[in-house]
Order: sequence, then C-alpha cells, then structure tokens
Amino acid sequence: MIRLSEIKLTLAEAEQPEPVLTAAACRILGLSPREIARVDVFKRSFDARKADLVAVFIVDVALADPAQEPALLAKFAANPHIAPAPDMIWRAPVAAPASQPLRPVVVGFGPCGIFAALVLAQMGFKPIVLERGKPVRERTRDTWGLWRKSVLEPESNVQFGEGGAVTFSDG
Ligand SMILES: Cc1cc2nc3c(=O)[nH]c(=O)nc-3n(C[C@H](O)[C@H](O)[C@H](O)COP(=O)(O)OP(=O)(O)OC[C@H]3O[C@@H](n4cnc5c(N)ncnc54)[C@H](O)[C@@H]3O)c2cc1C
Repeated sequence: MIRLSEIKLTLAEAEQPEPVLTAAACRILGLSPREIARVDVFKRSFDARKADLVAVFIVDVALADPAQEPALLAKFAANPHIAPAPDMIWRAPVAAPASQPLRPVVVGFGPCGIFAALVLAQMGFKPIVLERGKPVRERTRDTWGLWRKSVLEPESNVQFGEGGAVTFSDG
C-alpha cells in the first residue's frame, strides 16, 4: 500500500470523502481510477489555522496491480507526502512453549488486565485472570446504589469489579 499525506478537503467534501480522496489519489499518483483498487482513510484531522477550516487526510492506497508499487514509489521518492504505508500489524513477540507448566496470572480485569490477558492468550499462554470485584451486572446495581442513594459498597463500585473503572467511563 502507498501512504499519501496532507490531502486537504473542504468541510463539505469531507462529509463524503471517499470519491474525492480517490480522485485526489489518482491525481497525485498520475493513475486512472481503474488502477486503484482501494483507498483507506488512515487519519483525518482538521486544520483551523486559517480562516477556512480544512480537513486533512492521510490515506493508504492499494493498487489494482500491486506489482506496480515499487516503481511508483521510486518515481515519487523525493515527495515527502508519498511513501510506503508502514506495516502496523501487531505481532506477538514470543510464542508459548509447547509444554508450559506454569500459567501467567493477570491481576485485575480492567482495560489493562483485559488487554494483557488477550495478548497472552494470543501468544498461546493460558492466563489466569483474578478480579476482586463482582460481575458487571451486580456492580452496576451497586454503583447506581452509590450514585442514586449514596450507599457505598466498598468492594463493588466504580473502581472495583469486572471491566474496571472504564465500565462507567464518560465516553
Ligand atoms: C467515573 C469515571 C469516568 C471515566 N471516564 C473516562 C473517559 O471518559 N475516558 C477515558 O479515557 N478514561 C476515563 N476514565 C478512566 C479510565 O476508566 C481508566 O483510565 C481505566 O479504567 C484504567 O484502566 P486499568 O485497567 O489500568 O485500571 P482499572 O480500570 O481501575 O481496573 C483495575 C481492575 O483491577 C481490579 N483490582 C484491583 N485490585 C485488585 C486485586 N488486589 N485483586 C484483583 N483485582 C484487583 C479492580 O477491581 C479493577 O477491575 C474514567 C474513570 C472513572 C472512574
């Protein structure tokens, strides 16, 4: 994939950006629409430094014929806004050995614990997750008890229980 940066669209164009971004990719790379298989938005931001607010996109372009990519990248090597899209796929750094007598322990089932347990499982370990609080339905009842009736359940509230604090996050 080829990453194109600094593509500026008006706010009206940014409402439905796909056709405009495809046209921009064709123009920037000197290709016809048939030569482009897909344009994925990697990032959208807004530039409000001038009177007219603009949307600024970074996109990844997949060519219909991926074999063309090296030559196209070489042609635009001097352009800082055209580059190979970085490989951002996360790969597990290690794999669990076939025989694993001990299992890793994850303490807490908030976002950190959930993610730690997930990646350990993806690596082939069999994590044991310990959570001191209650399952989410019960703690929701307890938390509302505090917020609505001012009754604090010390072991089950916004801080403690399945899902961690983020279960009651603002958004
Ligand atoms: C009301 C509220 C609103 C929030 N809103 C937002 C928001 O809008 N956006 C945002 O990004 N962040 C928000 N946050 C912050 C966000 O929730 C935290 O940053 C996030 O939950 C931290 O994740 P964590 O896994 O590190 O810890 P926690 O979510 O705190 O999880 C820790 C877990 O470990 C468990 N635990 C603790 N001690 C033990 C033990 N000894 N044994 C076993 N288990 C244990 C706890 O019960 C808990 O489940 C909010 C937090 C609160 C309280």
